[in-house]
This record gives sequence, structure tokens and C-alpha cells, in this order.
Amino acid sequence: MASGLIQFAFVLASGIINIMPNEADIKRLDTFHVKCLRAILRVKWQDRVPNSEILRRAEMTGMESLLMRNQLRWCGHLVLMESFRLPKKVFYSELASGKRKPGGQYLRYRDVLKRHLTAISMSSESWEELATKRTEWRTAVKTGLENFESTPLEELDSKRRHRKTRPKPSYDYTYDCNGNLYCASCNRTFKSKFGFASHARAHARRDQGMS
Ligand SMILES: [Zn+2]
Repeated sequence: MASGLIQFAFVLASGIINIMPNEADIKRLDTFHVKCLRAILRVKWQDRVPNSEILRRAEMTGMESLLMRNQLRWCGHLVLMESFRLPKKVFYSELASGKRKPGGQYLRYRDVLKRHLTAISMSSESWEELATKRTEWRTAVKTGLENFESTPLEELDSKRRHRKTRPKPSYDYTYDCNGNLYCASCNRTFKSKFGFASHARAHARRDQGMS
């Protein structure tokens, strides 16, 4: 699977193929990406360095913004292409016939681009005009992406802080005469402390719901 992922990542990162992965794919790619960076930076899991810190140390961005940057860069070139060029024709063309199925549709490259432009607070109406001015376009994409990337990193940090500072719950383990764990409220027995704890949490949730 790893080699498949490497190939996939390579194809995406090179921006040659115009497919846009879905959220789950991006998450998988992100995991793989950070794993590689950890290996390169020689950070072991025992060092307990969070993913956001790895990205900062490597001066790299997450997969999503890498993909976004490639797409935006490519579209910047596309705008400057002569109108007879095939990529440009495909980009602006629409299917003449065919049915749409109910529910979520497969997005066109253009639809994903629109989403990305919104994400970096760029107008999806006037981007083509901006893209014809090379320097301005590049600066706009760069700053937009920097803003886009800084927010999730800060979010990751605050989520982690919350997780780490949350007090660990303690459980009153109750044992019957045979030394088995059991629940005092409903007499259910458990093989492991883990099972007992999860059951106790379910009780707590139920009590919370009732009050
Ligand atoms: Zn119980």
C-alpha cells in the first residue's frame, strides 16, 4: 500500500493529472506526509512531537494546501494558454448530454478550483483577470495560502492543548467475591478494566441525559 500511496502522492504533487482527491484521501495523504517528515527529521513517536510542530520544523504545509497551491499554479498557466490548446478547451467545456444522478455530483476541476479560491478568500469571478498579471497573481496565491494554512495549524494546537490538559477520569472499580469486575448498578460483569470504564462512561452519559 505504501508504494501505491507514494505514487499517488507523487502524481498529485506533480500536478500533472487533474484529479482532486476527496477529504478522506487528503487525510490519508496528510498522515503519510507527516510520517515521512518524521522519518526525515528523525523524530520518533516517543518524542511526542505533534503533527503541527513537525510541519513547522520542516517548514512545510499540509497536503491540502500543497494540492491547492499546485492547482492554483496550474490554473495561472492555463489562463495564459492560447485558446486552441487542449487543456484550456477541456477546462472550459461542458458535457453536451448525459444525466445527473441524485445526490452529490462528481465535481469538475473548475468546481474544485472555485472552492479553493473561496478558501483563500479570492474572488471566483475575477481570478482569471488577476491570473493574467503574473506577479500579482503569485503574490495573491501565496498570501492566501499562508493565511489558509496558519488557521488549521493553530486549531490543531488548541485541540491538542485541550486534549492534554483535560483531567483523566478515574473509575471506582468494583469487584465481586470471585474477583471479577462488575457494575454495582446493573450487576454486569467485565473481563477488563477497559470494558468497565467504557460501561461506566455510558452510565454517566445516561445520567447526564436524564438530568
Ligand atoms: Zn451498569
